[in-house]
Amino acid sequence: MTSKVGNQPRVIAVANQKGGVGKTTTAINLGTALAQAGFQCVIIDLDPQGNASTGLGCPQEERSSSMYEALSGELSLLQTLQPTPVEDLLLAPSSVDLSGADVELVDQIDRTHRLRNLLDQFFEDAQDAHVDYVLIDCPPSLNLLTVNAMVAAQSVLVPLQSEFFALEGLTQLLSTVKQVRQNLNPGLHIAGIVLTMFDQRNRLSGQVAEDVRENLGDVVFSTIIPRNVRISEAPSHAIPVLVYDPGCAGSIAYRALAQEVLTRDGLLTAA
Ligand code: ADP
Ligand code: MG
Repeated sequence: MTSKVGNQPRVIAVANQKGGVGKTTTAINLGTALAQAGFQCVIIDLDPQGNASTGLGCPQEERSSSMYEALSGELSLLQTLQPTPVEDLLLAPSSVDLSGADVELVDQIDRTHRLRNLLDQFFEDAQDAHVDYVLIDCPPSLNLLTVNAMVAAQSVLVPLQSEFFALEGLTQLLSTVKQVRQNLNPGLHIAGIVLTMFDQRNRLSGQVAEDVRENLGDVVFSTIIPRNVRISEAPSHAIPVLVYDPGCAGSIAYRALAQEVLTRDGLLTAA
């Protein structure tokens, strides 16, 4: 397997401090779609709730080698990696202990760079294995774990739920990105904003989409993820919706999102 993105793997933090906006669903299914398109992917589950781990077939009792041990310096990132139901997609699982990591890291001098250092080491170790994309599923907070993700990443992908208060809280998120860029990671940019859980029958969803585009412009992906029951069913089977029901509207949308991400990264030319 050769790296399709050259020497520099793309690292994307999937972040929004609001819970239930589709971060985990987006990390899992964007990762799956990229892997199915032939790109080698790793998903890092940085949320103590571990929904990405569960959704990729790694239940809580199988998370003894987790991101907690990695961030604590006991394990390398490579040592945490587990296979998933998707070929070319590996998982660095979460652990409930991560909920304490925020506090435990506060006194450490390298507290904001732990994940970045782990990734640097990983890319060095994995030189022959090649990694194209690393997606970091962030917790619903702007805590030290999310800051670690933003320091480790080149870009932030923001899922935004198509509901009335969608834009609320975005200012705070964007200002955190700006602060991280100014103080810790000058290259950090917004990979894009993706509207999720779009309800076609609901006029409000359409208004929200219009509003978001008016306010934020081109940074908003043209792909919109519809509200789709198959998407919400898939995690209980511990597989991505792209595996559970490849033909459903949700799967089609996540494949389109992956094409858009690849196009923005210069890895595909738009049709
Ligand atoms: P977050 O990680 O931001 O907390 P999740 O991805 O876990 O959000 O999504 C929250 C809930 O909504 C989950 O139960 C998930 O299965 C469901 N969900 C996410 N996206 C969709 C969608 N497009 N259609 C239907 N249900 C969705
Ligand atoms: Mg989540």
